[in-house]
Amino acid sequence: MALILAPEQVKNGARNRRRGMDGTLFTNAVLWSGAETDGEGARQSLLVTDGRIAAIGPELPAQPGVRVIDAAGALLLPGLVNAHFHSPVNHMKGRLPSLPLEIFMLYESPNLEVLHPTPEEAYVRTALAAIEMLRTGTTAVQDDAFFVPGPTPEIIDAVMQAYADCGIRARVALDQSDLPEIGKLPFLDQHASAEVREALSRLPHYRADALLDAYEHLVTRWHGAENGRLQAAVSCSAPQRVSPGYARALRDLSDRLGLPLYVHILETRVQRHLGMENFGGRSLVGLADQLDLLSPLSNVIHAIWVDDADLRLMAERGVTVAHNPISNLRLGSGVMSFRALRDHDIPIALGTDEAIADDAVNMWAVMKMAGLIHNIGQPDYERWPQAGEILDCLWTGGHRAMASEPGAGQIAVGAKADLVLLDIESLAFTPLNHLARQMIYCENGSSVRLTMVDGAVVFAEGRVLGVDETALLTKARELARRQRPGLQEAEIAAEKLLPTYRGLYLEAAERDVGMNRWVGR
Ligand SMILES: [Zn+2]
Repeated sequence: MALILAPEQVKNGARNRRRGMDGTLFTNAVLWSGAETDGEGARQSLLVTDGRIAAIGPELPAQPGVRVIDAAGALLLPGLVNAHFHSPVNHMKGRLPSLPLEIFMLYESPNLEVLHPTPEEAYVRTALAAIEMLRTGTTAVQDDAFFVPGPTPEIIDAVMQAYADCGIRARVALDQSDLPEIGKLPFLDQHASAEVREALSRLPHYRADALLDAYEHLVTRWHGAENGRLQAAVSCSAPQRVSPGYARALRDLSDRLGLPLYVHILETRVQRHLGMENFGGRSLVGLADQLDLLSPLSNVIHAIWVDDADLRLMAERGVTVAHNPISNLRLGSGVMSFRALRDHDIPIALGTDEAIADDAVNMWAVMKMAGLIHNIGQPDYERWPQAGEILDCLWTGGHRAMASEPGAGQIAVGAKADLVLLDIESLAFTPLNHLARQMIYCENGSSVRLTMVDGAVVFAEGRVLGVDETALLTKARELARRQRPGLQEAEIAAEKLLPTYRGLYLEAAERDVGMNRWVGR
């Protein structure tokens, strides 16, 4: 594969990571111990060896071969978890105006040959967001990666190699539909010409067998690679996007290997109508259940336009919901009912969603939005989300979604050493009034001093150590310039479908669905 990094740079990254594996001793740190941590407690030492927290104590002795990091003035906390993300549009941040999902998707990943990614493009794109995450303290990500026209082994390898080199923990699934577009949209009789219907009836290039072959490559080549830091997941994308046979195969794979199963459900009002119009009046949560896609390993993504019956069913099946509040506003999808999910004991994880719909890959911003938007969900202020709840979603919900090992997301002996050193003498925390609230409402990622994943320091002194950031960013700019004419061509092609999509979107907005998830009248 055409890596843009010189071999010695890659080796340096690997050496840095190995050096971390010899052991690191943090001294004088405040340790995160839950939302009641006040930042003023006794300073502690924390020793990391073999990728795990080996000891915690007031003054652990330095040992030969162990790097000592003075953490005075800083808080040591578990790494942030980005539970929902799609890497393939990392190069598209800020490209589109705010648009509803259905219309936005026309422009998101057009199937033009000139825009099919090369391995080099896939590598650079993936690394862009991995760098952004590590710099802001995210140590683990779930990447629901989609590829146009489909996931070749070379592209899968490029994505995984980028995660391997950057040093982040990643779970990666292949988010592909094996069905034509026509079955995924309501109200087409009213809004689609014969020509448009024909265009929407085309089968996708990759069908179930080819997609399962791609999964075989992902699992055999990458699942458990890099000391278990890289893992596979499975994705059906959404229940309306897969055939029953493919859904069955994905569920089997999820069960057999214990892999999280990603399924987007009821992100938009159009999708609420889709269930009523095209699937016999059924909610898409019910459709997912009929396809056997709901299990304790399932990540239901968005869950905005759900009703009480949907909530009861999701709770019964034991799913986790991945909540992406910034993306949901950017695409005008609506506001998920945070308190209703919590009342049903449905675990919530937090995600950025893709970089064309957030458009930053920064979990601090996501936490702040999650901590704010639900305050307009109801007048009873005692039921508004508290800072500790948002942090619980970030770590407990995030690791549950990822099916991480027990103890993940905690500062405890034996836990994986995925850690962040946060400067609490920075502006965001000065003066220190309430640590958890300042983490949610003040911090933006700029206080992150160091990020460690699997016991290896991967970001420190302003640099991500595994890759040459300057070379990568230069390359990303060059690739974007090369792509520009193709993207313009794709936009012209999308205009042909626009009247149909606009028509059905407006019809869905007009027709009653028995609930409102939008703000205002
Ligand atoms: Zn998504």
